[in-house]
Amino acid sequence: MKAAVLKKAKEIKVEEVPYPTLESHGVIIKVKACGICGSDLHVYKRNDKSGTIFGHEFCGEIVEVGKEVKDIKPGMRVTAVGFKPCGACFWCQQGKGYRCSHMELIGYEFPGAMAEYVHVPFAVLGRTIFPLPEELSYLEGASVEPLSISYFSVNRAQPKPEDTVLVIGLGVIGLYAVQVLKALGVKRIIASGRRPARLEAARSLGADLLIDAARENTIDRVMEYTGQVGVDIVIECAGQQRTFDESIAVVKGGGKVMLVGVYEEPLRWDPLSVIAKNISLIGCLGGNFPACINLLKTGQVQAIPLITHTFPLEEAAEAFRTQLVDPNAIKVMLVM
Ligand SMILES: [Zn+2]
Ligand SMILES: [Zn+2]
Repeated sequence: MKAAVLKKAKEIKVEEVPYPTLESHGVIIKVKACGICGSDLHVYKRNDKSGTIFGHEFCGEIVEVGKEVKDIKPGMRVTAVGFKPCGACFWCQQGKGYRCSHMELIGYEFPGAMAEYVHVPFAVLGRTIFPLPEELSYLEGASVEPLSISYFSVNRAQPKPEDTVLVIGLGVIGLYAVQVLKALGVKRIIASGRRPARLEAARSLGADLLIDAARENTIDRVMEYTGQVGVDIVIECAGQQRTFDESIAVVKGGGKVMLVGVYEEPLRWDPLSVIAKNISLIGCLGGNFPACINLLKTGQVQAIPLITHTFPLEEAAEAFRTQLVDPNAIKVMLVM
């Protein structure tokens, strides 16, 4: 079968690789769509691991089912969480492999879905394999994973409708966060980003105040908008020193800063700035696929406006270049 394989930094090649081996707890999925994630780009830029087949934001059709797998049948349209439990930790010993503390991740530690077929080694209906309702297209199905990151982070902040919430960083995760906040009834949503196409998307998807961080000072604009009070919650999706500092500066006393974006460099920060304002700094990593499938199905969250480019698998190299450098790219997807 064909797969997109990382050869060296910024070089992806589509080539023949072996069809996956079905394990007893696994399923094989014929891939229909797979998104390129910001986390993929971190590895793609540096090439930590040549031979990687990326792809953890995907969906498709079940074609083979391992003999220990229950209630999953060939032909089902699904999206999936791909990981391999270690089998030895506290959670694995109790049969709760989905909580494994040393899990290997699909698309990094073992082959992902930028291929014609992908093996999901731990297939449990409702835990790692989620049927797609017929209303959802494959492009939407492959959007459930990134949406679930935003959904989890926003919910962890427990926003109230009267809160003022700032979203910093308008990649896909930030743009989904804006929509989830809107769906939860939050009335004042501020969005700060640098690229015109993404600011425009934030505006059309419900942000009340836009800050063009390439030209404007985020701290000044937020303080002006909130009458010098600051915001209740910051959803920090950019993962930069500057955006971290801005988050601490604009959150009001007792407020929450949700750390969602992946920091490429360690931070320098003064803990007193957090202590003195009683700020909660909260790390976010998790998901909720059923809730997100429902948000897409009911139209409360839209994925299609964020999918700016699609490429066939054969053009994976061009797809990665587009996601990395095209200023108009929001989410680039491969379709098979
Ligand atoms: Zn991702
Ligand atoms: Zn484990």
